[in-house]
Amino acid sequence: MQVLNISDHKVNMDHNKIEDTFNLVTEKLQNKSSKILELVDQIGQKIECATTKMQSIETANVGLAKSIFLGLETALNEISPIKKLKGLPKDLNEGLAKYVRLLEKSFRADISESYQNLDFDAHLVNQIIAIYFYRDGLFDLGDCFVREANDSEAAALKAPFLQMYGALEALKSRNLEPALNWASEQSEWLFLNGSDLKLTLHQLQYLELLQNDNGTAALGYSAEYLTPYAAEYPDDVSNLLACLLWKGKLHESPYAEYVSPKHWDTLPEKFKHQFCSLLGESYQGALGVAIVTGFRELPMLVKLQKLTDGEQDWESMHQLPIPIELETQLLLRSVVVCPGLKEKTSNENPPLLMPCGHVLSKKLITLISGNTRCLSFWCPCCKKRAKFIECRQLHF
Ligand SMILES: [Zn+2]
Repeated sequence: MQVLNISDHKVNMDHNKIEDTFNLVTEKLQNKSSKILELVDQIGQKIECATTKMQSIETANVGLAKSIFLGLETALNEISPIKKLKGLPKDLNEGLAKYVRLLEKSFRADISESYQNLDFDAHLVNQIIAIYFYRDGLFDLGDCFVREANDSEAAALKAPFLQMYGALEALKSRNLEPALNWASEQSEWLFLNGSDLKLTLHQLQYLELLQNDNGTAALGYSAEYLTPYAAEYPDDVSNLLACLLWKGKLHESPYAEYVSPKHWDTLPEKFKHQFCSLLGESYQGALGVAIVTGFRELPMLVKLQKLTDGEQDWESMHQLPIPIELETQLLLRSVVVCPGLKEKTSNENPPLLMPCGHVLSKKLITLISGNTRCLSFWCPCCKKRAKFIECRQLHF
């Protein structure tokens, strides 16, 4: 495939240039505003001073009134506001004109040139848009869209996200019940995916009881909900049980880390991750990523169309003939090759994300972990320790 010689850094450079010029103009504007305000203040003070003097003299004392006016005139001349303000607009206008020129140069491209009438599946597109709204908690907007699109199947996508946001809302007031109910319903799926979310939820519930001075309830809770995890997480469970001995002064105990607010801070994201994963959705909505990427790379696509006289057929293309560099969070990979075994991952042998951030196939991790879930092993890429149970399956 022919590779066109277009620098993929050009668009980013243009964006940076526009941002720098904009910042320069706003900086100048702020400088000037503060100078103008300073002058107005000075003038105000002089007038106020003269007014006070005028009010304190006899009405008939014309001579003194005249001298106050003359004094005010001299004071205002000394400030010379007209002279000081004269050069200000010119400087600002120059910066503004440069900014406008740059905007016109960068954004006047006719984006319709890159448009091609593709044969979209309207129902699928409706579903993607509805999910985009619902997953972001924009339920009214999603409902309105579904109504106008008259797509009853898209409406059915709302329920799971309502449940997710209900649980997330409850977490704000440290109410773990809806999240725990969901985790209990999905217990098997969470276990198969190596998730420790359920334990995290039980752990927080137990520590809440303990911190609310309810030792008996905490003891009962630990026996019912924590000890079943003893085989899989022996250290955590024994530490949590030891917390009972520190009731009322957990913050001064060797287990203070367990009551750190960070566990509550990270919980909503962890819950959302697992929830979306179960629905087969990526954590970041695919439509959002596509919109951001398309918006950023549109100038490049317009150029590509121009250079190929509009003869590029997007539908038949498996990849763009130009390299496009995106930030990591915008990258979606449909195929993952295990860097250790050099083979493609699949549904039977899915890619697993280790705590260090490296991704290996389940087959390789099973091999190097000796097929144990709790014993730690070295990541072959960065030599950091990891356990099988800490690895998360990636879904594509
Ligand atoms: Zn690693």
